[in-house]
Amino acid sequence: MIITIDGPAGTGKSTIAKLLSKILEFDVFDTGAMYRAFTWYLLEKKIEIHHSEQIERALNDFFLDIHKDEQGDNHYFVESQEITQAIRSKEVTEVVSQVSALEVVRKNLVKLQRAFGKKRNAVFEGRDMGSVVFPHADLKFFLTATPEVRALRRYRELLAKFPDHKDSIQYQKIFDEIQLRDHRDSTRKLSPLLCPSDAYLIDTTEMSIEEVLDAMIDKGRKKLRSFLFPRTKMRGTYRNVLRFFSFLFCWRYHFYLHGRMNIPRGASILAANHSSYFDPPAVAISFSEEIHFLGKKALFKIPIFSSIIKHLNTHPVSGKAGDAQTIKEIIKLLRSGKKVLVFPEGGRGISEKIREMLPGVGFLSYMTKVPIVPIYIQGTRQIWPTHKMFPRCSGSLHCYIGKPIVFAHDTHLDKKETLKAIDEELQTALRTLQGLAK
Ligand code: C5P
Repeated sequence: MIITIDGPAGTGKSTIAKLLSKILEFDVFDTGAMYRAFTWYLLEKKIEIHHSEQIERALNDFFLDIHKDEQGDNHYFVESQEITQAIRSKEVTEVVSQVSALEVVRKNLVKLQRAFGKKRNAVFEGRDMGSVVFPHADLKFFLTATPEVRALRRYRELLAKFPDHKDSIQYQKIFDEIQLRDHRDSTRKLSPLLCPSDAYLIDTTEMSIEEVLDAMIDKGRKKLRSFLFPRTKMRGTYRNVLRFFSFLFCWRYHFYLHGRMNIPRGASILAANHSSYFDPPAVAISFSEEIHFLGKKALFKIPIFSSIIKHLNTHPVSGKAGDAQTIKEIIKLLRSGKKVLVFPEGGRGISEKIREMLPGVGFLSYMTKVPIVPIYIQGTRQIWPTHKMFPRCSGSLHCYIGKPIVFAHDTHLDKKETLKAIDEELQTALRTLQGLAK
């Protein structure tokens, strides 16, 4: 599957492409970096832009090596020299759009890009990905934003990256450079920057990265379903029950997941608010791997039902907060790399308003050094309140996933204070998510 993201500089394309590819487990190609790498090569070899013969020769000799690091970031090498930083330099930025407008350069790099796209799932970002390079891409996006906002984003990004050069980083200069590049990229004869008619157009001016990502996933939801919910790694019963809930929640209740990019890999404590029977399945369908649940021991005495819940990764616990056996069971699961859903407020509440936390989640994180993922569920209470025998047939359901809270090892606080601090941080995070939900 090929996903294309096009748009002018400063619309967040690279960040979004990277995050989207991480979520979907796709490869990611920043084609601007390829044009930049070749521009760097020309500058390095002191080849001028009007020397077409030399440029053709340079294209024959040019070999771009791309290595992905553990964080999923690409590193670029030419002739064994790493140029990842160098291609972002002022010198390269100033001439790249002139180099990229040359027919012979485009022809060669487009060939390379198409070869990269063969037989793989990938996100390609650039200027002409959806219009020229992959006109039959499965999903196309075009991001825009006002030039002022784009320049401001670049300005802040540069300040953060190069704090020592803050005097030479000027907003007006960046704004002018962006305007000039926009003009060159959109008015050139070959593959000008334009929004393909079949692309989703997203104006990111007033959106955060998370919001853009959520909007893209929402728009491409149908085509992305099998990648977002790759049930293949799940066991039979769990997968089938989850399929049922995914279908029910998406079809009947317009389930909407926010903050998917915050989901960490591996073991985590999923700490959610709780007010309905539908909370566990709402959290379960948000994750592309099996998660584990805790259930009161009494439930395991009900014939048939007990065997079903066992297949759904439910583990018997006493149900009392702070109970040693309950804590032991959760720690065992976390240490074996599992994701465990806990309800730090205790049993089901009578509303979705965040209540006081019972102590315990901080302790789990302290003992296992596993991150806590705050989750706010909105809508399950209206759909299936505690006093009703059956759920309503319609409604809307949202699941907000917050940034993982990571236990700080080097804290100066003692154990008691640390536990309190983690619990408080979780409560604040849940309240913040509740605020977003309004
Ligand atoms: O995205 P980035 O700003 O790194 O791109 C640098 C330049 O590369 C753009 O200004 C544009 O001239 C060129 N480019 C292109 N086609 C692409 C990607 C980038 O012409 N697909």
